Amino acid sequence: MVPILIKIKLMSTAMAGWTAAASPAPMPSEMIATVLTTEVAAPVAVTLFDENDHQQGTIAIWRDGSTDDATKKLVKRLFRCRTTHREKLMAQKTLAMLADIQEHYAGKTIEYVSAYRVGRGESSTSPHRDGRALDFRIRGVQLREIRDYLWRTYADVGVGWYPSEQFVHIDTRPGLHDTAWTFLHGINHYHPYWAELARQPQVAAVSHEHRAGS
Ligand SMILES: [Zn+2]
Repeated sequence: MVPILIKIKLMSTAMAGWTAAASPAPMPSEMIATVLTTEVAAPVAVTLFDENDHQQGTIAIWRDGSTDDATKKLVKRLFRCRTTHREKLMAQKTLAMLADIQEHYAGKTIEYVSAYRVGRGESSTSPHRDGRALDFRIRGVQLREIRDYLWRTYADVGVGWYPSEQFVHIDTRPGLHDTAWTFLHGINHYHPYWAELARQPQVAAVSHEHRAGS
């Protein structure tokens, strides 16, 4: 068990290394390599870039979306409402997806645009208001590729494609129907063509072994 403890300690050190993008001090690559060698025994090192503050850093999230208390505090602050400055811990299922997304796109930086939102303009039913949603892109990965991966991999989710704004929206919605949409010209267009394509049986068969939770 000792190596695991050491790795968690390393992760904590990395968390403290959350710094301005001008002087990036994220995880050294050899540290990431160490973490990756113990895939299941260590949390996922999720590298985030905050599009609002232009800051970058790495946080440790377990595959089930759980984190330690220090990381919870940090997650609350990073994903806070930018209008009201209020904080809410992101839903564990959404954090689990974030960990999975990072594992799938290993070594990539997840650039997030928006998370928790409780401003006056936010709909009462918005998953952002509930801390279940994240708007993001991944540096060096086509938005379409991320969109399709999310839609064919997860259930009980909302996946929105925002080609003009250059981000994808993901939310967890336990007990509700999966919903996909394209946001164009100020309107959500539901049942988009890409959603049907991404979940076609032959595509699903190829990606089956990558399904979350299996
Ligand atoms: Zn959103």
